[in-house]
Amino acid sequence: MVTVETNSTFDAQQVEDIVEHARANILRMALYQSTRDPELKRMPLTKVSLRGGAFFGYELSEEDAKTVRAKARDFLMSGEASKERPLPTDAEQREMMHLLTGEEITDELFAFGREELALEDFSRKADWTDGKPSIPEGFSVAVIGAGASGIVAGVQLEQLGIPYEVFERQSEAGGTWQLNHYPEARVDTSSFLYQFKFVKNYPWPEYFAPQSEVKKYIEHVARDFGVDKHITFDTELKHAVFNEQTKLWDIELHHRDGSVDKRSVNAIISGAGQFSTPRFPDIEGLSKFAGTKLHTTAWDDSFDPKGKRIAVIGNGSTGVQLMPGLAKAADFVYQLQRTPQWVSPMEQYREKISTEVRWLFDNMPFYWNWYCYYSQVTTDAMQNAQEYDREWQANGGSISEANDGLKQSLTTYIQDKLGSRPDLIAKVLPDYAPLARRLIVDNGWYDALLRDNVALVTDGIARFTEHGIETTAGELLEIDAVVFAAGFDVSKYLWPTEYVGRGGATMESIWTEDGPRAYLGLTVPGFPNLFIFYGPNAQPRSGAFLSWVEVWSRYAVQGVIHVLEQGISAIDVREEVFREYNRELDAHNDILIWENEAPADKNYYVNSFGRQNVHWTFRNDEYFKRVAALNPADFDEI
Ligand code: NAP
Repeated sequence: MVTVETNSTFDAQQVEDIVEHARANILRMALYQSTRDPELKRMPLTKVSLRGGAFFGYELSEEDAKTVRAKARDFLMSGEASKERPLPTDAEQREMMHLLTGEEITDELFAFGREELALEDFSRKADWTDGKPSIPEGFSVAVIGAGASGIVAGVQLEQLGIPYEVFERQSEAGGTWQLNHYPEARVDTSSFLYQFKFVKNYPWPEYFAPQSEVKKYIEHVARDFGVDKHITFDTELKHAVFNEQTKLWDIELHHRDGSVDKRSVNAIISGAGQFSTPRFPDIEGLSKFAGTKLHTTAWDDSFDPKGKRIAVIGNGSTGVQLMPGLAKAADFVYQLQRTPQWVSPMEQYREKISTEVRWLFDNMPFYWNWYCYYSQVTTDAMQNAQEYDREWQANGGSISEANDGLKQSLTTYIQDKLGSRPDLIAKVLPDYAPLARRLIVDNGWYDALLRDNVALVTDGIARFTEHGIETTAGELLEIDAVVFAAGFDVSKYLWPTEYVGRGGATMESIWTEDGPRAYLGLTVPGFPNLFIFYGPNAQPRSGAFLSWVEVWSRYAVQGVIHVLEQGISAIDVREEVFREYNRELDAHNDILIWENEAPADKNYYVNSFGRQNVHWTFRNDEYFKRVAALNPADFDEI
C-alpha cells in the first residue's frame, strides 16, 4: 500500500496557486493514478523539444492543463489525497506510462520504466530465493569506494545481512562528489534522475543539485541505511590476488598512516569509478611557472580569484561549468580551448525548487513518482541522435534526422548567444556532430565569453614560462594562476589497484588487444567473484546514471547470493559468454557515431585503440534486459 500525508493547513486559494506551479502532464498522471478519472485519459499531447533538441517533453494544451489543475485542486482539498491506495498492477502502470507520453511502451521499456516510476519501496533490491541461508563463518565482501556505487552496494548487502566492509581512500564519502569541489560543480543531469529510486522524495533544493548537496545526499543514504558504520576511510586497496587454493581474494589495504593490512575476502565489488584518475597535461616548462597551479579535482578552497589573471585549460563539462564564475570574480580569464565543444542550454539548470513545488512533491500523491519517470523518458530520445540513419545519409543527410536537427538547433543557440561576435562564433562552433562527445551544459559560458575580462584563446600552448603561458602563435599570456580542467584518464579502469586473477593474469595482461572489456561492463573471465561498477562500456546512453548503479548492485549482490545459496566458493563468467557479448557490443558500435565523428584522440569515449570504450552500445532497454537479473548459466562455478 502507498500512504500519503496531506498538509491540511492550506486553503483553497493557496492550493490553487500551488497547482499552478505543477507540470500539468505530470500532475495529470499523478491524479489519474489516484482517481482513474476518464476525462484525464482523453487529453492529446504535443511533443516539445528540450535541451536544444537532445531531449523531448510531452505537454498538454493550455485548456487541458487548466482542467487538470482545477481537478487537482479539488482533489487536494477533498481529503482524498491522504487515502491509502493499492499498488497499481503492471498492466495499469504500463497503461499510465503510455498515457503520459503517447509513445508505445514495449516490454523492455516497461521493465526499466516501472523501476524508474518507483512505486515499490525498493524495486531493485537483491533478494534471497527462499529465505536467508546460513552464512559461513568469516564470509565477507569487500566494497571498494564510498561513492554512489560503493554505498548502494553496501545498502544491498546491509539489507540482506551479508557481512561486508567498504574501503575508501579519501577521508570522506562521496566519491567524485567528494573530490570535485571546484566552484560551481553541480550535476548536469536532473537530480530527479541522478538519485536512487529507493530513497523516496529526497528534498533536493535545486533541480540540478550542487556538489555539496550531492555529497550530502550520498552521506545521508550511507547513514540512513547503516552503511556508514562499515566504511574504513583513508584506506586504499592496492593489490588483490585470487588465491586458487582457498578461492578467496587476498587483499592488501594501504592506510594513509603507512600501515598495511592483509586479509582475505570472498568477493569484491569495485565502485572505484571512471572519473577517479585526473589527467595532468604534460606541458613544457610547467615546473618553472611561479604562479598558482590548480586542478579541478583538488581545488584549493582558500584560492581567491579576486584581482588575479587566470588561465583555464579545458572547455569540457568541468571547464565550462567553472569558467563563468571565475570570470565574475577574477581580474582577467583566458579560456584556453583546444577543440570546440557543443555546449547546450538546459531547462531549470541552477533553478531552485520553489516551496510550491516542494509542497506538491510532499502532498500530491505520486507526483514525485511521475516526475522521476518523466525525467527519465524525456532523455531517452537522445539515443536516436547517437545512431547513424543510413537511409537519411543516402538521401544527403549528415547523420540522422535527429542528430542533424540537434546540430541545427544548437548552432542557432550559439548564434543567438554570440550574435554580436561572429569572430567568437567561428571559434566555438564545432565541425563535428553533436553527441559525438559528451554534450555539455551551458552554465553561462557563452555569456561569459562576451565579458570584457575574458579572452578565448584557440592557439595551442607552446610552453609555460615563469609568469605565464606562451602560445603556439608566440603570444605571452601573463597569468597569476592556471586551472587545469583537463579531464580524466577514463581508460585506467580500476587503477591504482592491481587485480591478479586465475593463472596469475592481470587485467592489463588480458586487455592488450583493444583495451578494457567486460561482460555487461561488470565481470571479467578469470576474475571470480569480482564485480566492477562503471566498468568498460558501462555508461548509459542517456538518463539515469544512479538508477543503473542500483541495477548493477542488484546484479553483483545476486552473484554473492548465488554463491551463498549454492554453497560454492565462487563464480567466474564464462569466456564464451564474455566473447559473444563483446562481439554484439562491437557490432552495435558500428551504428553509433562515437568512433568516427569527433577527433578520436581528443574524445575520451574512444580509447587509444580507436574503440569506443565508455558507453554500452545497446539501447538502454536492451542492456537492461540483459542486466536486470544475473543468469547463473553465464558463469562457471568454481
Ligand atoms: P573532458 O571532457 O575530458 O575535457 C577536458 C578538456 O581539457 C578538453 O577541453 C580538452 O581539450 C582539454 N585538454 C586536455 N588536455 C589538454 C592539453 N594537453 N592541452 C590543452 N587542453 C587540454 O573533461 P571534463 O571537463 O573534466 O569532463 C569529464 C567528464 O566528467 C564529463 O564528460 C562528465 O561525464 C563528467 N563531469 C560531469 C559534470 C557534471 O556536472 N555532472 C561536471 C564535470 C564533469 P580537447 O577537447 O582538445 O581534448
